[in-house]
Parts: sequence; C-alpha cells; structure tokens
Amino acid sequence: MSDNEDPGFDLGAPAKSEAYRVLARKYRPSDFTGLIGQEALVRTLSNAFALNRIAHAFMLTGVRGVGKTTTARIIARALNCIGPDGKNTAPTIQPCGVCDACVTIAESRNVDVQEMDAASRTGIDDIREIIEGVRYAPASARYKVYIIDEVHMLSKQAFNGLLKTLEEPPPHVKFIFATTEIRKVPVTVLSRCQRFDLRRIDSMELADYLAKLAVKENVKIEADALALIARAAEGSARDALSLLDQAISHNDQGEIGASAIRAMLGLADRGRILDLFEKMMGGKIAEALADLGGLYDSGADALAVMQDLLETVHFLTRIKVSPGAQGFFDGGSGEAKRAAEMAAKLSVPALTRAWQIFLRGLFEVRDATRPIQALEMVLIRLAYAADLPPTDKLVRDLLDNPPPVGGSKLPPRSGGNFGEGASARAQAAPAPAAIPESAPTFRKLEDIAALAAANNAPVLKVHIENDIHLVHLETGRIEFRPSARAPRTLAGDLQQKLKDWTGQRWSVSIASEGGAPTLAEQKKSAKAARFESVMQEPMVRAVLDRFPGAEIVAVRDVAAEESVAPIIDEKDE
Ligand SMILES: [Zn+2]
Repeated sequence: MSDNEDPGFDLGAPAKSEAYRVLARKYRPSDFTGLIGQEALVRTLSNAFALNRIAHAFMLTGVRGVGKTTTARIIARALNCIGPDGKNTAPTIQPCGVCDACVTIAESRNVDVQEMDAASRTGIDDIREIIEGVRYAPASARYKVYIIDEVHMLSKQAFNGLLKTLEEPPPHVKFIFATTEIRKVPVTVLSRCQRFDLRRIDSMELADYLAKLAVKENVKIEADALALIARAAEGSARDALSLLDQAISHNDQGEIGASAIRAMLGLADRGRILDLFEKMMGGKIAEALADLGGLYDSGADALAVMQDLLETVHFLTRIKVSPGAQGFFDGGSGEAKRAAEMAAKLSVPALTRAWQIFLRGLFEVRDATRPIQALEMVLIRLAYAADLPPTDKLVRDLLDNPPPVGGSKLPPRSGGNFGEGASARAQAAPAPAAIPESAPTFRKLEDIAALAAANNAPVLKVHIENDIHLVHLETGRIEFRPSARAPRTLAGDLQQKLKDWTGQRWSVSIASEGGAPTLAEQKKSAKAARFESVMQEPMVRAVLDRFPGAEIVAVRDVAAEESVAPIIDEKDE
C-alpha cells in the first residue's frame, strides 16, 4: 500500500484537471476503519462476520448526518466484496475497495444492491417490487442487498408486506434499514433486525478528525476555528466537512481564524458575550447595553445573543459544580479561564436567577416584533436583579412562583436542569415558533437565512447563504439551483426545517439552471464595489499616493457606528 492510499480516507491525490470534489464526498469513508466515532458498531459487526453469524436485516438508527447511509453502503460492500483478485468467497469486514462489487456499490450502481428512500416511496407497491425481486438470485453479487432509508416513513400496509419477507428471508437476501425515528418503526419489524445506534460524534473527536484532514488538504486553520465548526456540526461528520469546505472557499489567504468561522456561522464572539454577562452581573447596565449595541452592530442576532447568554450561565453553573466540565467555552482557551474565574465569584443562587430571567427572556425575544428591544429589557431586568443580594429565599420564591409568561409558554423550572448532560441550547431551543396571527411572509432569501439563524441552525444557514441560487421564492414555495458544493440533502433538509419553523408546508423544488447569485456571492461583489468606489475618493487617492505601499484593508460605515450611541442614551435615562 502506498503512502497516499490510507484505507480510511480514500485519499487519492486528485489530479489537477479533476473537478473539485467537496470534502464530504471526497472523504466519505469506504470501509469501517474510516468510520469515525462508531467503534461499538464496528466491533459487533466484526465479531458477527468472524463467527459467520451475519444477521438478515440490520437497523441503523441515529440523528441525521451521523453516517447511516454511508454505513449501510459499507455493510453492503463487506457482504459482497470479492477481493482484488476476485477470489474472496465469503463476506469480509475489510472490503477491498477495488473489486467490481466494492466500486459499483460505492457509486450506487450495483444491480444487486438497491437503495430506496422510503420518504419518497412509502406505498405497498414500492415494497411489492422488492418482495417480487427477493425471490430471484442476485445477478452477480453474493447477496442481494436492499437499503431502505427513512424506513419509518413506510405505510402500515408496506410494513406488513415487508414483514412476511423478513420472517423468512431467502438466504441470498440482506436488508439494511436506516431511520432517524426508531420509535416509529413497528416492533414486529424491529425484532427481526440487528439494531445499531449510531452515535453523534463527540465534538472533540470531530475537531481532531478535521485537524488531520486539514493537514492532508494543506489547509491552515486555527484549532479554535475547528472547535467552532465541530460544535456547530452537532456530531455530524458530514455537516462538519461541509462547513470546513465553506470556510476554505471563503478564505482568501493565510490561516483560517476563529473569527472568520464565527462570522460565517453568525455567532457572536464568545469573549464579548462573557464581557456582556460580567457587566450585567456587576450591575453595570449602561456598559452592558453599550456592549450589546456593539454586538448587534457587528451583525449578531438578538435571539442568538440571548441563547449564547443562556449557554454562558449554563456553562458557569456547570463548572461551578464540576470544575473542568467541557462546553460552551473551549477548555484551555482564554475565555474558559475567564469563565472559571467568574464562576468562582458568583453564587449558584445568583446563576440560577440569571438562568431564570434569561429563559423567560428567550421567549420574549423570540416573540417580540423588535427582538433587540426585548433583549435590552431582559438585560436591564437582570442588571437590577443582580443589584439585590442573592439570598436563597429570593431564589426560592422565584422558583416556587415563576413569573407568569402566559399559557403554555411557561418556561420549565430550571431547578433540575443543571448537572444534566443536555446543553442549555438543547433545553432552550425554541420550540417551533407558534404561528402568529399574521404569519410571516418570505420574499427574500435573506428572510430564510434569518429564520435559520433565529432557530439556531447555523449549518443550514451557511448552506442557504452559500449554496442556493434562488429562482423563485414566495411564502410556502421556494425553487433554487443548488451550487456544486451543496449537500445532496439540502432540499430535503430545507423543506423539513421550513415546515418545523413556519408550521406550514413548503414546496421545495430544484432547478437545473439559472437562479440568482448566492447571498455570499452578492455580499462579495457588493464589498468589492464598495472598495472600488472608496478607491475613487480623492481623499483616499491622496492618502494612497502619499504613502506608497499602503492598502485599504477595510471599509467601515462611520455613520452606522455612531448611531449606536443615541440608542444607549435613550435607554439610560
Ligand atoms: Zn472488494
């Protein structure tokens, strides 16, 4: 094996002429050694293969993006690999990757390995096709393999049809099912499958993986930047790779920094969030509001800031009860140290009270017509509360009588939340926003991107900004041409999320040509135009002439920055 044939990473150095392949496709694992974070599955399968006790049907479950389809294809290869010399007569846990079976399965064009998406083919007729086909021997492979994705979407009738085959499967047939919602799969079907729960990949593990991959790709990127990507990907290697891809394509030169990733994801600088929180807890309301104005001005979303503040409180409380806990602030970073110092000074009752106020604030900010104003009011409330002595009684009163927020929106009591593994983000994730009486209308793609940001979906937001050439948009319908880098699942993901977020059905269609430049492209050309016009200013020209070698590094809108001050003065009175 030569150096660049790493079995795990499919690392054939691309020839210069080869079209750019997105990282997620380029590094899609082709065998079990390349599958990161799924050791338990690999161990169990290895044993089964070694003992020749291979199940007839497998059920792969896990959240989207953990690699269910990829794993299904690897299992199909393991079942059918005949080895480089074509002499391998039994399934192998180490498929060779070069034989005809391995190659055709990886490219989804093996006649004996059929993939079907139950999300689009739910009926009994679709299953009947499979049931008919099961009777015939495979054309060339060892096994006929049926991969059925999102199997929980099958109709009841389809499940019943499938069940008969699952009860007595012919020896040459294997089923591999994948699902994001295992509870919707009938027990009768489940009981006939060997089940594997694919876990989310730990963000540290994911960051390590990205770091190795960056080295292979000759990309310079800060460790903090990788940590941000890993965390935004929430355990999905596919999302992480696609974010890294975007980061690389955004980068003009040099090392990719954490600030660039933060800007890409629409995240506020965590150090600044910490500043803001510190000032509020110190009762320094005017300074806190000034900080908020700065964050808002640099593009941070009010709801995102609110969520970050909740994460901050959660993290501080966590490290108070178990020092060294990982989370919102990266271990070892300057912010993590500052957070630890801050946590030492604050009492648990004070933190609990902050949590309570923020949690209630989250709903207020989410539902406000002007979220930034609602956020300012939340900060003011906390700053004044922080002035009061944080007595246990005060807190107990608050916990016993949570301030009414109205109906079902009442936030859960925070008492039991601390110390659990779930992050504040998960607990505080806004439920699909109740549809207001006048449902929001969507006219611009920016509206959709903002919706993704407000619903804490940075990965999708990045794809909306970078991979959508908009053809048509109206509320309930969007048509676009995906960019070459767009993930295969973009249209489906978008449709699901739009439904979750707006409470109405969306038709999402794909155009093969046309469409406007992406939001990122528009932003880039606007920036270029701005630089160009600044270059034409006589003052600027004069400066550039006077200082040979000087260059313009940024163009800032002074008027916009100054407009922050009056807002703060107003609030201060
Ligand atoms: Zn093979």
